[in-house]
Amino acid sequence: MSRTVAAEECTALGGTQRTLEAYPNRDVSLGHLTVTRVLPIRDRRMIGPWCFLDRFGPLSFSEEKPMDVAPHPHTGLQTVTWLIEGEVLHDDSLGCEAIARPGGVNVMTSGRGIAHAEQTPRRNSGRLNGAQLWVALPDAHRHVDPSFDGIKQVPVIETPGGITQVFAGSLADVTSPGRHFSELVGADVQIHPGSSIWMDLRPDFEHAVLVLDGDCTIDAEPLQPRMLYYLGTDRTSASFSSRQGGRAMLIGGPPFAERILMWWNFVARTPEEIAQYREDWELRRRFGDVPSYHGDRLAAPELARIARPNALS
Ligand code: MN
Repeated sequence: MSRTVAAEECTALGGTQRTLEAYPNRDVSLGHLTVTRVLPIRDRRMIGPWCFLDRFGPLSFSEEKPMDVAPHPHTGLQTVTWLIEGEVLHDDSLGCEAIARPGGVNVMTSGRGIAHAEQTPRRNSGRLNGAQLWVALPDAHRHVDPSFDGIKQVPVIETPGGITQVFAGSLADVTSPGRHFSELVGADVQIHPGSSIWMDLRPDFEHAVLVLDGDCTIDAEPLQPRMLYYLGTDRTSASFSSRQGGRAMLIGGPPFAERILMWWNFVARTPEEIAQYREDWELRRRFGDVPSYHGDRLAAPELARIARPNALS
């Protein structure tokens, strides 16, 4: 069965002011699993270097493993896998095998090319709840050697109002150990019932926030589930509050200065690059194999028309 997939241009829209804009999430099938696509959003905005965000779960299972993504390629990006509950087994063409678990983070740098498979491991808790995000690599670093960081425990900021886990980049005075190639933040903010968490933000970063669980307000504005809230730049702080207890994801970074072209699992700059990567995958060049995965690898979709990027707005 062949699918045709259109490329999506993603740019920072030059948002240089404080705002609060809500962008609804949408459901997407990923094999047997229905995931919630949070990014890219309809006007193709990135959030700093973050260009993609899929939310999966929360769900319980007993027989079928809910996640089973056969070997597939990536270029020009990092994948960041953050779990709230459950486990995801990662195997890649470098020979790295790692199980992501709550409290830790898996950061895979594709650089010029890598292949990986992601699945629920045989021994599991019967729960799945988490997110996978992609970080676009800046042009100066997008052809680096592929690499993988499996981090068992990310830094935690504990305050009377709750617990903030920094799974990517820096927040306040803590930095997650995963390697990144531009400034960014990714944090999981758990607010205790009837409490607030106040945090310093970088005003040169744009930020966005997504409710993961419970009820949550930011700077007294109530946040709905299944919405990404774009906060813009020019915020020096944020206050999260919750009545019954809540959890939210905060992502951000300086507005990305380059226009990227996303198609399937590739981040590139030109249609020619996309076509080359697709051909390399089909002809088993560039990316390597994932021999530990039992089963076929994913075939690339048909290449549809790819529009040339427009001039930066
Ligand atoms: Mn992948």
